[in-house]
Amino acid sequence: MNYRHAYHAGNFADVVKHVVLCLAIQALKRKPKAFRVIDTHAGRGRYDLAGDEALRTGEATGGVLALEGQLQRFNDAGVDAGSGSFEPDTETASPSALPPDEGLRLYAQALDAARAWRTPAAPDTAPRFYPGSPLIARVLLRPQDRLIANELHPEDAAALRHLFARDPQSKTMAIDGWTALKAVLPPPERRAVVLIDPPYERTDDLPRMARALAQALKRFATGIYLLWYPIKDPDTLRPYRQQLAATVTQPTATLEFFHHAGRRADKLNGCGLTIVNPPYQLEDALTAVMPTLTAHLETVTGQGTWTYEPLSG
Ligand code: SAM
Repeated sequence: MNYRHAYHAGNFADVVKHVVLCLAIQALKRKPKAFRVIDTHAGRGRYDLAGDEALRTGEATGGVLALEGQLQRFNDAGVDAGSGSFEPDTETASPSALPPDEGLRLYAQALDAARAWRTPAAPDTAPRFYPGSPLIARVLLRPQDRLIANELHPEDAAALRHLFARDPQSKTMAIDGWTALKAVLPPPERRAVVLIDPPYERTDDLPRMARALAQALKRFATGIYLLWYPIKDPDTLRPYRQQLAATVTQPTATLEFFHHAGRRADKLNGCGLTIVNPPYQLEDALTAVMPTLTAHLETVTGQGTWTYEPLSG
């Protein structure tokens, strides 16, 4: 286990993933019934952007730090991230009911609330600390909702456990993420966002993820699943897409973001999310927010692009 997320926290890929996570959680908050967030590869939950690892790569500079100006205007409004719903509580609401900057607003509020998590005496509102996916999820929960966060690396697992110690709404685990996925499904609430965000240290992580998804859907077919993957050479993703298309019968979409046009097969050129059971209006919300992300995130040649499409093999 060599991968350490501290080197990459807050980079362009984290921003895209975490904006989608916020929107998926918010979609479940349209109904009062409880849900849970399941994070199989959770990381340590909070990262220091002024720490050695983050400074060594500087990746947050082209990620969350490049968005600070955009995010600040929402933080100034000071709305509680744990409350509110981004549209009327009806499935028949017109798509125009969705505020155009909803994704950014939710993300800004989650970052603000996460920076204040368990530091009430001196909430750190500076962009120095960046929350990982479990902390972002946690601050968006209502009292009836739950978080299950799993992380295998001993050091990060200990930090995660400490972050959520004695929090009655969170449970942390420190086992293999693929085993954890089987162990926690189906959730008792029968409503969940499941984030699967492995480190891609193994060459077979993509087919493994597709297999794990197929098994997870047998246990829990109606969850919202978010499966993150890196994109170097886009052509290498074809077998993964074919594998999904052959096994997944649920509505499924693919969000992909490329942060520059000059594509080198040995470089991280972008990232993708496979979204199973995408919530109502997610496409509208992404159509609204992705142009802003594309304009501000590390688009080294100013030629960032994104796509949102139904899954096709
Ligand atoms: N989801 C986190 C976020 O968005 O803030 C980032 C997670 S990072 C991409 C992947 C994490 O998986 C790393 O923290 C790594 O230590 C952990 N990991 C590696 N192998 C694992 C395994 N077999 N089971 C669970 N976690 C694992």
